[in-house]
Amino acid sequence: MKLIRFGQPGSEKPGLLTKDGQRKDCSAHFADWDRRFFQDGGLSRLATLAANAGQLPDVPERARWAAPVARPGKVIGIGLNYSDHAAESGMALPAEPIVFLKASNTVCGPMDPILIPRGSLKTDWEVELGVVMGRDARYLDSLAAAKEAIAGYCISHDVSERCFQLERGGQWTKGKSADSFNPMGPWLATPDEVSDVLKLPLTLEVNGRRMQIGNTSKMIFDVFFLVHYLSQFMTLEAGDVITTGTPPGVGMGQKPPRYLKAGDIVTLAIDGLGRQRSECVAA
Ligand code: ZN
Repeated sequence: MKLIRFGQPGSEKPGLLTKDGQRKDCSAHFADWDRRFFQDGGLSRLATLAANAGQLPDVPERARWAAPVARPGKVIGIGLNYSDHAAESGMALPAEPIVFLKASNTVCGPMDPILIPRGSLKTDWEVELGVVMGRDARYLDSLAAAKEAIAGYCISHDVSERCFQLERGGQWTKGKSADSFNPMGPWLATPDEVSDVLKLPLTLEVNGRRMQIGNTSKMIFDVFFLVHYLSQFMTLEAGDVITTGTPPGVGMGQKPPRYLKAGDIVTLAIDGLGRQRSECVAA
C-alpha cells in the first residue's frame, strides 16, 4: 500500500494512492496515519479497505500533498551513514551510528516550499531514505524483529543549515530543526511495495542539475541494523521517523561549496518512493 495525506497544514486527512496513481480519501474510515493507527494494527485494517480502494472518494486534484504520516513523536537522524559522504565532509567513518534528533515540527509536505532561515548562508540539501515505525519497539532482540517493526519507507529530505549545525557550538540540533527542514513523502510505501530496501537508488537535483546520486547499498549501517540499534537506547514509538543518512553530493562537499538560495528548485527521487519538488523561499 501507498499511504498519503492531503489538505492544508493542520487539517490534513489520510488517504491512499492506488496502483493506477489515483489519490483516494480514507477520512471516513480512519482519523489519521498516526501513532495510534500504527500501534493498534491499523495497517492490516487498511489493507481490507485498500482491496476496494476504487470505491473510496477521490481526493480533489489540487489538494496539497501533505507528509504521508502525522507529526511523529520524534525524528531521529543518522549522521555520516554513507562512507563517501563522510569522506566529502572531512569526517572519519563512525564506529557506531551517529544519532541526532531533529525537531518533529520540521516535517512538511513533499511539494511545500523550503524556508531558508533568517541569517542563513549555508542551507544545504540531503536526500535520504525515511523509515517509519509500525509499532512501539524497545530492546528488539534481532534484526528480524527490527524488520517486523517497520511500517514503511518514504523519501525524507534532511535539510541542514551547516553554519548553525557545525560552526555555532555543540550538537547538530540547531542546524537540523528550522521550519520546513524535513519534507517527507509523497507517499509512505509499505515494505511489500519496495523491491529491496537495501539496494535503492537515491537522487537529488538543484535547478535540474544532478547533485546527489547514491544507493542504500552503500550505507555503513543498514535500516534493520539502525532500528535494532536505536531500540537498545530509547523506545521507538509507532509513527516515529528515522532519517537514515545521505549519500555524497551535498552542497558543503562541492568545490567551492554551494548552498540553497531563494528561487532554487530542489527535486528528490527514490525508486518506488516517488519524487519531491520544493522551491526555496526566504523565511
Ligand atoms: Zn542527514
